[in-house]
Amino acid sequence: MNDAHLLIHFGELSTKGGNRKLFINKLGSNLRHALKAFPKATVSVDHDHCHVYPHGEYFDEICGIVREIPGIQRISIVHVCPKNIEAMQELALSLAKEEEGATFKVETKRADKTFPLDSYGISRALAAAILKRSDKKVDVHHPSIRLSVDVRHDDTVFMSCHSFPGAGGYPLGMNGKVLLLLSGGIDSPVAAYQLLRRGIRIECIHFASPPYTSMAVLDKLDDIIKALSVYQEDIKLNVVPFTHLQEEIYRNVDESYCITIMRRMMLRIAVEVAKKEHCLAIATGESVGQVASQTLDSLIAINDVTNFPILRPLAVMDKLDIIGIAKKVGTYEISIRPFEDCCTIFAPKNPKTKPRIDHCEHYEKKFDYQTLVKECVEGTERTLYLSGEKKEFQE
Ligand code: ATP
Ligand code: MG
Repeated sequence: MNDAHLLIHFGELSTKGGNRKLFINKLGSNLRHALKAFPKATVSVDHDHCHVYPHGEYFDEICGIVREIPGIQRISIVHVCPKNIEAMQELALSLAKEEEGATFKVETKRADKTFPLDSYGISRALAAAILKRSDKKVDVHHPSIRLSVDVRHDDTVFMSCHSFPGAGGYPLGMNGKVLLLLSGGIDSPVAAYQLLRRGIRIECIHFASPPYTSMAVLDKLDDIIKALSVYQEDIKLNVVPFTHLQEEIYRNVDESYCITIMRRMMLRIAVEVAKKEHCLAIATGESVGQVASQTLDSLIAINDVTNFPILRPLAVMDKLDIIGIAKKVGTYEISIRPFEDCCTIFAPKNPKTKPRIDHCEHYEKKFDYQTLVKECVEGTERTLYLSGEKKEFQE
């Protein structure tokens, strides 16, 4: 039957209080936006749910898109009938017949307590119709067909044999925007995905050190951003000219402290750019213990330059799980293309795993990093990507 529509359920916890209306309206507009390639499909919102009506158009493709949209707990494929028992029996029968399994169970929820039959009575009446006019049998413990019936407050009844989990989290845009340090490696695109599925918008910043790092990394970033644009259509990329500052670090700082100081500088620059761009926090793909610069001691020494919030969505994740997500998101194959990152190019042989803040400050006094940081911020080039395509930037 092609008159089905998608009923979108959101987690109760995420929609408490005054946020509820904002949440539902945001999700409704995100759904409309995500489905704009399907002009016949429509989206409506009511107090408890969003509804997506494919109107017979590309049902599976639309389901595929909807299940990736953050803010959705479950999606049911529902059929609607009028609120009278004969119509309900007809629909229940035709739905059960369409399914392959030999056994079924009817589960009824009755929001409208004025309906003449109670939940149990409705389930029995529908099951009786199916038993009488098909060869399906009842199995209340392990049914192969589970028919959910929802007797609603309005004039309708919803019935569904299929539901599947959504992406969870919050609708995109509910939780503000963060500035993500995007490197071209495996981790930071996964951090991006974790943020996006919580409904946090991202903007990206990349530190480029030509000629030490190749401009080919920018092609990688193009492709990574394209893959992420499924989740957020418009993504801004800030590319920081980092070479000069990085050379000064290596001229003035003991080799074992270079990575720590470099990360402190990245953070200082990122904070300035984040403030300019109205981002509420910074995010990175750092994961505790993964490499020398990511021990807890290192992270503390790096954090010390700012009290601006820093999110590390991968902080305690296992590398294999991170790789699994990267493959799912489609960034893994892009990330493993060989490239030189500004972190690897100057990587010291023995980086400090327990850097001391007073030592960092000692090295930083040796050169006028404030001016260099300012130059980096002012020289940052911005590109806007729409659906992965570069656009002319407009303030
Ligand atoms: P990734 O796989 O994301 O590159 P990594 O395991 O290689 O991470 P590092 O190179 O130490 O680890 O980087 C840790 C984090 O610092 C990255 O996830 C990213 O957020 C940030 N970062 C590193 N290099 C850059 C860069 N050139 N530009 C922007 N951010 C960077
Ligand atoms: Mg890296």
